[in-house]
Amino acid sequence: MSELKDLSKLCLHTITTKPWSIEEAIDKYAGAGVKGISVWRDTLNERNISEIGDRIRKLDLKIVSTVRGGFFPAPAEKSRHLVIADNLLFIEESAVLGSPLVVLVCGASEKQPLSVSRDQIKRGIETILPYAGEAGVKLAIEPLQPMYADTRSAINTMKQANEIAEYFNSPFLGVAVDVYHVWWDPDLEYEIQRCGKNNNLFAFHICDWLTPTVDMLNDRGLMGNGCIPIRKIRQWMESSGFSGFNEVEIFSNKHWAENQDDFLERIIRAYLEHS
Ligand code: ZN
Repeated sequence: MSELKDLSKLCLHTITTKPWSIEEAIDKYAGAGVKGISVWRDTLNERNISEIGDRIRKLDLKIVSTVRGGFFPAPAEKSRHLVIADNLLFIEESAVLGSPLVVLVCGASEKQPLSVSRDQIKRGIETILPYAGEAGVKLAIEPLQPMYADTRSAINTMKQANEIAEYFNSPFLGVAVDVYHVWWDPDLEYEIQRCGKNNNLFAFHICDWLTPTVDMLNDRGLMGNGCIPIRKIRQWMESSGFSGFNEVEIFSNKHWAENQDDFLERIIRAYLEHS
């Protein structure tokens, strides 16, 4: 039975319990036995970032990643430059916090062809990657559902993410696999194996796909409430060499409106039963 209570690989993204401040999230996660935390950037506003890092470490929580950089594409060159500067700042903030990894939501613009956005993403990564290496912070490309290809990401499949990671072939660039975005992909098992073979499996995000999904952004489900074969995908990850955290990342207007202490309890139960 003790195996069933194993929380040693459980990490929460702070966005999952959005109503909580970073301080509350840290204390509540640690109190509940969660072992990892992925920190969303907005929670660090007006905070002493290095003190937040100390507070996390003091409670024996591991900082798994900071979320999120990227959003490289824009029709105007000036906008693209501003985004690069902001990514560099975020890499620096991540290093100060003590985060080993920045997750990249690569971006897209409906005002230009996807091919142009994809090229700008590559150029953006090319520009920031040396700084990430110097700061000792890795970058993970997170492919997003094609439904977000207009404004959030022109990188929509594991294959595309693998190709970029392999093109740069850097120990500081890999892929974040989020089941919400890739569960439908007929090539998923193969692309996860490929990613593992190249040492590019950097992160694993979990939640579930609800039917019907009533909001394209903020209606993700708790593990077990939808149709994603989370256990199977986790097996593929682990048999491909991934030994990192299972990161619960749920954007949900419904769950954010609930009592967050109860929600955290249900997350842990759902993690143990369905992940
Ligand atoms: Zn994710």
